[in-house]
Amino acid sequence: TPRTGRTFRIAAIPADGVGKEVVAAGRAVLDALAKGSGGAFAFAWEEFPWGCGHYAATGRMMDEDGLERLKAFDAIYFGAVGWPTVPDHVSLWGLRLAICQGFDQWANVRPVHFLPGVRSPLRAADDHDLNWVVVRENSEGEYAGLGGRNLSARGPGGEVAVQSSLFTEVGCERVIRFAFDLARTRARRKVSSVTKSNAQQHGMVLWDEVFRRVAGDYPDVETESVLVDAMSAKFVLRPQDLSVVVASNLHADILSDLGSALAGSLGLAASANLNPERRYPSMFEPVHGSAPDIAGRGLANPVGAVGSAALMLDHLGLPDEAARLHRAIAATTAAGVLTPDVGGSAGTEEVTAALIGALDG
Ligand code: ATP
Ligand code: MG
Repeated sequence: TPRTGRTFRIAAIPADGVGKEVVAAGRAVLDALAKGSGGAFAFAWEEFPWGCGHYAATGRMMDEDGLERLKAFDAIYFGAVGWPTVPDHVSLWGLRLAICQGFDQWANVRPVHFLPGVRSPLRAADDHDLNWVVVRENSEGEYAGLGGRNLSARGPGGEVAVQSSLFTEVGCERVIRFAFDLARTRARRKVSSVTKSNAQQHGMVLWDEVFRRVAGDYPDVETESVLVDAMSAKFVLRPQDLSVVVASNLHADILSDLGSALAGSLGLAASANLNPERRYPSMFEPVHGSAPDIAGRGLANPVGAVGSAALMLDHLGLPDEAARLHRAIAATTAAGVLTPDVGGSAGTEEVTAALIGALDG
């Protein structure tokens, strides 16, 4: 049941490329949902013009007091960051990762959801209602930024670079516990932990140990520990065995892209960057990037962004509204209203209108 009369303050950051198109689509769907609630809840939007255009004009991806201003919001609704004219590490660290790190969004939830009417490259998908969630450790691991170049240890072949991973017991434990708690909310109570602890004998062994210890607190949840190479094969061959998959920053990044491709398109995939303690706002964004190859042509698939809006509704305490959004998405794809990336000929606006029309279902 919605918290009646509540107005949620949402910061919209469309940023770059198709991010602008899909955030506009998501906002339209959310506003239609609020309008249909008869005043039970509303959204107060503030849009921030940050991104690569802002960088070209000001030399910064976001304003200096950006995090300070975002703090006041109930959630952040994000598009996509990056443009060919700006180096990727500048655009990414200057905006998206600055928010993820600044707001301690240590859990990244990426559902893999097969939709009716969307062709999957998987044969198994014909026989199963496939639906699992990748939980990505979002604050350390392989993306901790540790290491360097031009070290004094130069090999005879030239420069040597070191890229280290950081695994802390606290960091492993909180994301693993998060995965177990999530598994308890699902029809299949199972957590698959992914590492490469046979070849990486420090951090990933610590992860495995923490996983075994935490599993002891959840005797009602089925568990498995799988190496990342084997899990890649499993995504393709036995996806019906998956429910919650928890993995490090890099491994989950790769596996979730694989998952969304198996579901039919990167444009379908939703994600939530959560600060589970709710000390700071969480951020909801499609998994895909700014897609310069199709940007500005009205062809972007809005489903990933709208699915991310559903994750945001869940986070805001509106699970029934989130479920309604998921039903609208399934009804729209089942009716064949699809963008070109999933084999259709509809544009972003047509799909968005169909999603809004399906909200009553
Ligand atoms: P990033 O580095 O930000 O992850 P990327 O370069 O890996 O970005 P994307 O920008 O996501 O990749 O684009 C990858 C491919 O997926 C492109 O061919 C793009 O057109 C397609 N794509 C991405 N998002 C969408 C979408 N919403 N609708 C349709 N196609 C999309
Ligand atoms: Mg990518």
